[in-house]
Amino acid sequence: MITIALSKGRIFDETLPLLRAAGILTPDHPGNSRKLILATSRRDVRLIIVRAADVPTYVQYGAADLGVAGKDVLDEHGGQGLYQPLDLGIACCRMMVAVSKDFDYGRATRQRARLRVATKYVQTAREHFAAKGMHVDLIKLYGSMELAPLTGLADAIVDLVSTGNTLKANNLKAVEEITPISARLVINQAALKLKRTEIQPLLDAFAGAAA
Ligand code: AMP
Repeated sequence: MITIALSKGRIFDETLPLLRAAGILTPDHPGNSRKLILATSRRDVRLIIVRAADVPTYVQYGAADLGVAGKDVLDEHGGQGLYQPLDLGIACCRMMVAVSKDFDYGRATRQRARLRVATKYVQTAREHFAAKGMHVDLIKLYGSMELAPLTGLADAIVDLVSTGNTLKANNLKAVEEITPISARLVINQAALKLKRTEIQPLLDAFAGAAA
């Protein structure tokens, strides 16, 4: 049995065509089913639905053999125990620094002001500001980072930006790109050795469909 860990939403939806290319179809969709384990058209392949940030953990410990996770999530996780052979080119967006529309970020950085930065991505933010030689106080949040500059909790946020609509709707502006983000295939390193004959064809089909 091969177990593939996916998260609901964009990653699931954009992975479906890649699964199809590997001959894997699923009658259930997490949008209209509460099932956490989904059977597929292949008796030897099942999907599990987990939180996006939990995908690397399931694969790291071998509870799933394969998974699809955003680079944002993998950077925070650290990637231990994971083989990352393939950028799938899906769920693309950008990791950005954003501030209130009227906040002068350029001046704050020139003056070497010590900024308060709210984010779910503390590891990524820490590395980014350290590389710039900026001292920041990081505040860990779990959601709705856009509220932080609006309520005085923080001067800036580090968050994913896709269309930019969320920033605009909340009177925020992006001021710096940290890194482009896309989803990667991750494989448990031990599973790749032990189940190579089963996993390699999936890898090849994903690579062909992602190219
Ligand atoms: P947008 O308004 O299209 O710029 O989307 C921004 C909102 O969607 C923010 O709350 C982000 O955290 C979230 N978001 C954007 N892209 C992604 C992605 N690829 N994965 C997870 N969350 C995302």
